[in-house]
Amino acid sequence: MRIGIVGLGLIGGSLGLDLRSLGHYVIGVSQRASTCETAVDRGAADVASCEFTPLETAEVIFICTPLSQIAPTLDQLLPHLAPNAILTDVGSVKAPVIELIQPRWANFVGGHPMAGTAESGINAAIPHLFQHNPYVLTPTPQTPEPAIALIHQLATSLGAKLYTTSPEAHDRAVAWISHLPVMVSASLILACQGEPDPAILSLAQALASSGFRDTSRVGGGNPELGLLMAQFNQAALLEALQAYRHQLDILMDGIKQSDWQEVHQRLSTTQQARPAFVKEPW
Ligand code: NAP
Repeated sequence: MRIGIVGLGLIGGSLGLDLRSLGHYVIGVSQRASTCETAVDRGAADVASCEFTPLETAEVIFICTPLSQIAPTLDQLLPHLAPNAILTDVGSVKAPVIELIQPRWANFVGGHPMAGTAESGINAAIPHLFQHNPYVLTPTPQTPEPAIALIHQLATSLGAKLYTTSPEAHDRAVAWISHLPVMVSASLILACQGEPDPAILSLAQALASSGFRDTSRVGGGNPELGLLMAQFNQAALLEALQAYRHQLDILMDGIKQSDWQEVHQRLSTTQQARPAFVKEPW
């Protein structure tokens, strides 16, 4: 197939590498000419440029820009699409993206490949990024069946594990397991950083080991990504944060009142509950 990819970064570039190795012809579009050159050199696209015109021949187009760039990208892209072209995106929040694109292009399926690394940009693109990882499709009752079937088939060919749900259910689920952890982890770092005694702070920094590394990892990532999660998934994230604050309050009460039975009970519950969230997908 002739497949267009707009936004040749970590996700767009990685998609290009895999789709080309599956025999598809990949037409890349990105913001910077240097990124387009690198994408072709690295084998992430057959051709790439800053122009949208070459996408006129694409049968499927993946929008892989940052969430904040989807609206301006759409304005540039739509005049160049073939009438029966299928559009999809990879944004990590779905309801606002579907609201934006669906009224303007009916042959559109929202998608979210849940894979990534701490890096960004075309140089971070790697083969097999999506293999064994979830790929969520979020069609609505208006989404044409053939478009859903084709994107499902392409995502499956990447070795991903496919899930289909509503955009709203997707956004609530990722608020719990992706967006809330970023805010909790960021708050953890900020709280530690707030230690008023510099000697204690530097001792804590020297002693920090694997536990702190695990719990602070997502809070120490790219601030732009965290900001976009908060902006685009505001309502679901706030709901999750309220629930988290409630749980903290209960734990704090137990500790304040030396109610060790209550504290133990809660920690036993979390020990039993965790495996269901972190089990191997395959
Ligand atoms: P990224 O590495 O920063 O790549 C995005 C690329 O888009 C940039 O390299 C940039 O290329 C290009 N771009 C920016 N504005 C553009 C525009 N107006 N027109 C054309 N190209 C433009 O980001 P990413 O991590 O791949 O994320 C891309 C999308 O994937 C986001 O919607 C995100 O929500 C989603 N996602 C990310 C992850 C993750 O873990 N990172 C996981 C799943 C889904 P230039 O170099 O040309 O400026």
